[in-house]
Amino acid sequence: MIRGQIFNIQRFSTDDGDGIRTCVFLKGCPLRCAWCHNAESLSAAFELAFYAQNCIGCGTCVAECPTGALDLQNGKLGINRTACKGCMRCAEVCCAEALVQIGKSMTVTDVMETVLKDRIFYGAHGGVTLTGGEPMLQPQFAIALAKAAKAEGLSVAMETSGFGDSADYEALLPYCDLFLFDCKASTERHRELTGVEDTRILQNLDLLAAHGARIRLRCPIVEGANLDDAFVEKIIALAKRYPSIEAVQLLPYHNTGVEKAIHLGKQAQPIFTTPNPQTLAALAERIEQESGTPTVY
Ligand code: SF4
Ligand code: SF4
Repeated sequence: MIRGQIFNIQRFSTDDGDGIRTCVFLKGCPLRCAWCHNAESLSAAFELAFYAQNCIGCGTCVAECPTGALDLQNGKLGINRTACKGCMRCAEVCCAEALVQIGKSMTVTDVMETVLKDRIFYGAHGGVTLTGGEPMLQPQFAIALAKAAKAEGLSVAMETSGFGDSADYEALLPYCDLFLFDCKASTERHRELTGVEDTRILQNLDLLAAHGARIRLRCPIVEGANLDDAFVEKIIALAKRYPSIEAVQLLPYHNTGVEKAIHLGKQAQPIFTTPNPQTLAALAERIEQESGTPTVY
């Protein structure tokens, strides 16, 4: 049976597609955006998070660790991340939710059990949104989940960087009602800002549009990083070119991800500027006027 690596299931979401939705977060992403606010989504492997404020200094985890990676000094827990082998025994015995395993292996049936709890709230438009990370890094699971949700008569949306395999997007098409497709940076600066070129992403956008898929172009707006003229012109050009793009959505940067990286023992991320409402309004107006595509933020 296919299993997926899931790091969160968020119920009652209203920002990730039409109506009320349950968002299923698949772990792992091939991109490395400079402003990523989901540090726990990047690695496909399970990870150990430490919430120091929850730790009661009982030392149970230290005794359980087979590699000596944990150490309690004056009631404060230290983690040697290099020595940690990720066995998660410490998280299993920590009763204070201070050490927590990020990521869970689930079957489609497991996920659907949670999804269907809210069926009564979905109405005609709500349903499931597959997100991440990059859901197309686990294509077999993502497609099987979309298929199961469709079989239950639910609306299915996918948030994607567009960096999956074209064949997988084609296979998903019959089971996906809406693509929330990222446009992250100008072509010229795409590798610098996200770690990958945008060639394959643009090919996949072209493929979905050629099939008449419903697409919303989702564009992070990060002052001091991706916000330049070339990026804005790219958004306008794509929205103009593809009638399949029904709307452009501008996503203003926020720095809520900074804390998450610290809990995972990762390097603190750079902090950028959140664009002010005037900047966003002017940008939305320009994109809408020049592309003729409704633009929201
Ligand atoms: S088991 Fe949990 S609460 Fe106890 S020392 Fe370890 S992290 Fe802290
Ligand atoms: S995950 Fe395993 S190896 Fe790592 S600190 Fe916890 S018990 Fe030790």
